[in-house]
Amino acid sequence: MMANTVLFNTTTANTYCHSCKINRFLLTHPVLDYLFKLEKQGIDAANWLQNFNAESLEIEGRGVFSRKEVEYYVKKYLLLSENGYLDNLDIKEKTSGRLSAQAILSQLANAMQVIFEMTESCNLQCEYCGYRKFYTGNKLRNKKNLSFATAKNLLDYLGRLWNSNLNRSHNRQINLSFYGGEPLLNFPLVKSLVEYANGMKLRHNRFNFSMTTNGLLLEKCMDFLVKHDFSLLISLDGDEAQNGYRVFPGGKPAFQVILKNVRALKEKYPAYFEKSVNFNAVLHNKNSVAGIHRYFKESFNKVPGILELNTVGIDPAAYEEFWKTYKNYSESVAEAENYSALEKDMLTMLPEPASAADMIRDYSGYLYSKYNDLIASNEIIQSIPTATCLPFSRKLFLTVNGKILPCERVRHQFALGFADENMVELDFGQIAEKYNGYYDKIAKFCNSCFRSKSCKQCIFHLEIDADNPVCYGWMNYQQHSEFLAGRMSYLEKNPRFYYKFLEEVNFI
Ligand code: SF4
Ligand code: SF4
Repeated sequence: MMANTVLFNTTTANTYCHSCKINRFLLTHPVLDYLFKLEKQGIDAANWLQNFNAESLEIEGRGVFSRKEVEYYVKKYLLLSENGYLDNLDIKEKTSGRLSAQAILSQLANAMQVIFEMTESCNLQCEYCGYRKFYTGNKLRNKKNLSFATAKNLLDYLGRLWNSNLNRSHNRQINLSFYGGEPLLNFPLVKSLVEYANGMKLRHNRFNFSMTTNGLLLEKCMDFLVKHDFSLLISLDGDEAQNGYRVFPGGKPAFQVILKNVRALKEKYPAYFEKSVNFNAVLHNKNSVAGIHRYFKESFNKVPGILELNTVGIDPAAYEEFWKTYKNYSESVAEAENYSALEKDMLTMLPEPASAADMIRDYSGYLYSKYNDLIASNEIIQSIPTATCLPFSRKLFLTVNGKILPCERVRHQFALGFADENMVELDFGQIAEKYNGYYDKIAKFCNSCFRSKSCKQCIFHLEIDADNPVCYGWMNYQQHSEFLAGRMSYLEKNPRFYYKFLEEVNFI
């Protein structure tokens, strides 16, 4: 699939052109826009001018332009054309990158986060839990704990890689993260692993620690967590009513117990609470983005993370109840009465500003993530299709059963390797083959997708194990033109945010 330019109009009637190959926007004069449109019909601007004998050109809805202006913009058009602005981008060629075993090994040697599933046990039984009625698979939780020997063995294996010449992450911190079930139900292992990690000799890096917890055991464990400067993410969906799905086995609400623990932490360690504690809420039909924001702002002066319910892997028997419980994030923001308060506190977490910021990152053509990119030519750099991270480039997740996954949000059937107390089994060639096989399955979409530059799709959040997986994010020319128009219109209406994004957003 070849693509050269995408033309679009914003709500203020400005016309833009985006060059797919050069990756630059151009605010276009109506005559230039007219010439770009002729080009799309296969008409060359220079030939067209030779046959243009009138003294002026009338463009419907845009005005009348003198011959002099027309000649000027034909020259401009030709200059752009000579400099590659209208060159075709071969989307298929662009997205035909492939993963190699060596690339995966290199990512692992630079892995910046290791997440341990400390236990399958949980002292809550939240209604929407990924291991409960709404989802297929993963329902068999045996209350198993991760063993120290397995986690230590993996850390030793990674330690050798972190200390090897493959590590290019000098001085960066490596995050060890504790996850569950409820990780504090396996508190002795948290302590042992922290102690063990602190005794490891790393040549290039240092560890820091984080934990996602439901907060029920916080008061008991907080001295240790504070002493080791854990970053804490507490799962809570808002006030008592909003938190209605987070219940004890048997259905008794957990809110008051969690709140008592959180308050105890805040009272005993106020500075720590301010710096290192955050909240994570799940959005559903008992709360809303605005309600969640208001509760955490007023109660703790915090801006929580807000996640939608996972829509992949729903058990057909629970469809109806699931969709009754589910709430869409964008729709909830659109209903917010206190939108300006949301804008003030969580600008880049809101759908419109977040996509405008993404557009600046993906389409400006001026973002260089590596120094080498500054000297790279404009020739096609093949990229891996989809937005799936390279395995282990962000993190590695170890389950209680020793399965090694690229992250905690990937279903366990996609395990990439295995660890126990004696060995770590990671076959990088096989992992590369697996990923390349997934890319091949979705290639028929990616090869013709105009959105490939701003793709957000993780392959593991598609039904990639099906014979013919579908990507619903795929865009044709027209859809992509509307997509860019929406985001550019937003920036035109909110120019102050353009500068705010440049100053505050980490685009890399
Ligand atoms: S969800 Fe996908 S892209 Fe995101 S970290 Fe996990 S594997 Fe990587
Ligand atoms: S949106 Fe879907 S089809 Fe388009 S590039 Fe991403 S994964 Fe491929």
